[in-house]
Amino acid sequence: MEEGARSCLLQSRSSLEQDIRASYLMDHMISDGVLTGDEEDRIRSKSTRREQAAALLELLLRKDNQAYISFYNALVRESYGDLASLLHNSLPLVSPEAEKSFSDGGTRYVQAVLSEGGVPQRPVVFVSRPALVNRVREKLYRLQKEPGWVTVFGMAGSGKSVLAAEAVRDHALITECFPGGVHWLSIGQLDRADLLVRIQSLCFRLEQQSQEKDPSSSLHRPPGSLEEAKERLRFLMLRRYPRSLLILDDIWDSSVLRAFDIQCRVMLTTRDRSLADCVSGFKSEVAVESGLEEDQALEILALYVNGKPQRLPEQARSIVRECKGSPLVVSLIGALLREFPDRWAYYLHTLQQKKFKRIRKSSSYDYDALDQAMAASIQVLSEEHRELYIDLTVLEKDVKVPAKVLSVLWDLEPEEVEDVLQDFVNKSLLFRDCHHRPYLYYLHDLQLDFLAEMNRSGLESLHTKVVRQYQQRYSQGPPTSGDEECLYWFRFLTYHMAKANLTQELYSLMFSLDWVRTKAQIMGPAHLINDYVEYGAILDKEVRGHFQEFLSLNGHQLEQRPFPDVVQLALSQPDSSEVYRQALLQAQERATRG
Ligand code: ADP
Repeated sequence: MEEGARSCLLQSRSSLEQDIRASYLMDHMISDGVLTGDEEDRIRSKSTRREQAAALLELLLRKDNQAYISFYNALVRESYGDLASLLHNSLPLVSPEAEKSFSDGGTRYVQAVLSEGGVPQRPVVFVSRPALVNRVREKLYRLQKEPGWVTVFGMAGSGKSVLAAEAVRDHALITECFPGGVHWLSIGQLDRADLLVRIQSLCFRLEQQSQEKDPSSSLHRPPGSLEEAKERLRFLMLRRYPRSLLILDDIWDSSVLRAFDIQCRVMLTTRDRSLADCVSGFKSEVAVESGLEEDQALEILALYVNGKPQRLPEQARSIVRECKGSPLVVSLIGALLREFPDRWAYYLHTLQQKKFKRIRKSSSYDYDALDQAMAASIQVLSEEHRELYIDLTVLEKDVKVPAKVLSVLWDLEPEEVEDVLQDFVNKSLLFRDCHHRPYLYYLHDLQLDFLAEMNRSGLESLHTKVVRQYQQRYSQGPPTSGDEECLYWFRFLTYHMAKANLTQELYSLMFSLDWVRTKAQIMGPAHLINDYVEYGAILDKEVRGHFQEFLSLNGHQLEQRPFPDVVQLALSQPDSSEVYRQALLQAQERATRG
């Protein structure tokens, strides 16, 4: 069901629940073919009218547009005119007209499938690369009958992710090849524990969606190891999501790919052409040239300045040539020109000067032009915003953060944070993932590389700032909401402490049973175990051993819900263990408190 209709149903839910008699409405819905006899029986089995109404609405929310329309018509027929009018404005259009192309080339159906699978939307300023898109689609069509791999490879910032998302924005391709859906997973550079967490959340997402469609299927506890995760995914893809496509964005390491070697259909984007050599099955590949064609790059510039490509000043072509058509750089310059439309010559000059070349290149990154464009974009920020932008240097690659994290970091009200972020997004200095509510923000890898190089000497103090701001906001104890912000702190507080060289604080945090309990409860034990391995060199070896042993012995229990009593578990550790010592103290405290 499309978003507007679902939202309207949710908003009108209590009025509907109060008044409707489900048994009257269901007859109509059954004859429209949107409700089955079994479903009707289940609803009728509820004892009160209100419970039946609630169950019908609950079921309806999981159904499609047709079900919404049928429900609306049933309300009209059964003289619930006033209630029907609540739903009227959000009636979905299902005429063939409405199913025809949307402005972005997909249909409503395509939009729904892609949004459900987390496929990113088009960038606000977008030009199509039809030859490339067709090449990718042609390879994807080869996966119609059999599983296999399509590798989209090219340099960083060449537009691979945008291309991969664009290729699946196609009604015929989805219905003919991937009726099981398209599922997007951002990977980036990650270790085994992070990979496990990504696959866990993919499995959770898939199980949740499949449960919405079939309430009799159950949600399982998250897989505890990579091997288990691989098997779970294999089962889900084979049984619940046959003929679906998995898109793995930005893969660096072939070991990551092996976790997905489960006889399914995969498209991956990567800088390394040979990655898929290590997996089995049918393979094909598409190369993405690093730059856009000249006319496409000019089109981007024209879109930013609201003009026609033919009317752009002569410097436009030189700008494109100077940055070799890099989509990322063209977007940065375009965003600058939108604000300062008479600075064509100036920005061309900036690009040519290469005066920021002193910034040392890190391995993934070899665009002079990006340096110039980033530096110019940062220069036009107000001084206050510039300082805030520099704070983003501390983000890890491929990590998306909600505005609330930045509100802690910057000690600003959420509304102020939104304004700052909007400024960055407008300048293409930051990207926004609108699939999530609240929105998530992220930098392109190359931008992070740039920031890291620019702020090399200040890195430690930037990380210290994050830790101090967190401590100030959460002086009474860590957040426990389980929302994106809370997850961020549980994942990255240790990282910031380590980078800030706050060894003593890292030590106290990681050797605290309270932290272990809360983190395990919110994120599961895999991340905790990983933290001890990751920061092993900094931590005391013996005490670290105590915690690792506790976690490896009790990992399985810590994944159970309801969550076990950690103090009880810890009391069964040897009495020489630090974990035991803290548990004993807490148990004694409990006893004195009664
Ligand atoms: P990669 O995955 O190769 O690192 P992305 O696909 O993330 O690169 O693209 C980098 C940036 O370049 C995007 O955030 C966007 O601003 C710009 N970009 C890429 N492709 C296009 C396009 N077709 N039209 C407009 N901008 C694009």
